Amino acid sequence: MQNGKNSDTATLLRFLPSVDALLQTAAARKILAETGAKHLANLARNVVETLRREILETNEKPNEFSRETLVQKAEDFLSDIWRIEKNTRLQRVINATGVIIHTNLGRAPLSEKAIKAISEVSGYCTLEYDLETGKRGRRGIGAENLLAEITGAEDALIVNNCAAACVLVLSALAQGGEAIISRGELVEIGGDFRIPDVMTESGAILREVGATNRTKISDYEKAINENTRMIIKVHPSNYRIIGFTESPTVAEIAELAHRKEILFYEDAGSGALPDLSEYGLADEPVISQRVAAGADVVTFSGDKLLGAVQAGLIVGRREVIETLRKHPLYRALRANKLIYAALEATLESFRKETALTEIPVLQMLSRSDKEIEQRTKDFAKKLSGKIDKNTNLEFSITKGNSVIGGGSAPAVQPESTLLALKHKKMPVNELERTLRLSKPPIITRILEDKVLIDLRTISESEEAELLEILAKLK
Ligand SMILES: *Cc1c(COP(=O)(O)O)cnc(C)c1O
Repeated sequence: MQNGKNSDTATLLRFLPSVDALLQTAAARKILAETGAKHLANLARNVVETLRREILETNEKPNEFSRETLVQKAEDFLSDIWRIEKNTRLQRVINATGVIIHTNLGRAPLSEKAIKAISEVSGYCTLEYDLETGKRGRRGIGAENLLAEITGAEDALIVNNCAAACVLVLSALAQGGEAIISRGELVEIGGDFRIPDVMTESGAILREVGATNRTKISDYEKAINENTRMIIKVHPSNYRIIGFTESPTVAEIAELAHRKEILFYEDAGSGALPDLSEYGLADEPVISQRVAAGADVVTFSGDKLLGAVQAGLIVGRREVIETLRKHPLYRALRANKLIYAALEATLESFRKETALTEIPVLQMLSRSDKEIEQRTKDFAKKLSGKIDKNTNLEFSITKGNSVIGGGSAPAVQPESTLLALKHKKMPVNELERTLRLSKPPIITRILEDKVLIDLRTISESEEAELLEILAKLK
């Protein structure tokens, strides 16, 4: 028996193509231009090594394999590992999930103007150069001035993301002192960003006040002592306490802080530049209102409801912002030219009051269900006309909801009309996977035995691509 196995193994090993032979196959030649010869040789070595190990470790019989099938197996394996490697690269996807600010899919899609601005400054640009004087200029000045103007703040500062903004504010303004926060706001935002941990890391001593559902202005007042530096208010973002709740208004907290000569800092998270309550987002702090109500410093994200790139936006009183700008940590957290360019273009849209038509996040948010219903019906009609008569794909139109996402307004789910897909030969997970691995990838969600497509998060040009892919499904 043992002998038999040894000779089977020997036969199989003889059938195994050499690395050189594998490099000559059609599969290898097809990917050569993408990988380059050196990386392709590494991949081929990896394939041959893995197959050799498999042969030595398992009991496969040579009669189940010929020389040809083993070469084919090696070719398929090579194509697979190259595909898997390539799929770890960043690539464009069609977001059919209906989640507008989808953190895993890159949060906010940029406006046309922001994309153009990024491309224009990608070479040399005036990052720290003043054209008027021909001397060194202040980095970020354009975007920061726009931000201050739009929010009514005295000054603004931009860093890499809102988490960095929180770290900078706490380190520069509360280190070694106490920072007071309501128990109801000691939240985890997602991606392991926990407010209490950030405070500890920043060297601020956390003073929790009130109860999870109720904090009164007197709770804050009682906690203030000579070591208190600030009161912090954190927008709970992805989390809501409903029912028997109470918290003082921003104006009340600001009044208390200023009477006691300490700072009032609000982390608004997503925040809204114009008031978005018309679209169900009444709970999102409107930044200009927070500034007007007396917050000394407010932080929020660049790629949530603002609809631009990952960035941490800080607005507030002039001397507070100046302290942050001079802090050594700022150097480590400062933004790059592409971020400023995208923010400048996006903020221009807000200043001109054209944001609702120019910024994709706000466009998607403000689409009425009627509009989406019509688009979905039109799409279904086009699909019926284009699809093969013998297709196994079945589709219907159903009511459902989109999601804001990105930790913004968890309770708000705009009504939407969805295209529901089923396939006669593929189980629902396989249909989802097929769409996910198409070019471009289409990211969907599954509900029960159907794959759902929400056109709210799909642009007109992507609609045409989606139609092609669905019509070609066998
Ligand atoms: C999202 C969020 C953050 C983190 O913002 P990033 O830009 O992702 O770093 C911080 N605080 C609050 C309240 C948030 O909602």
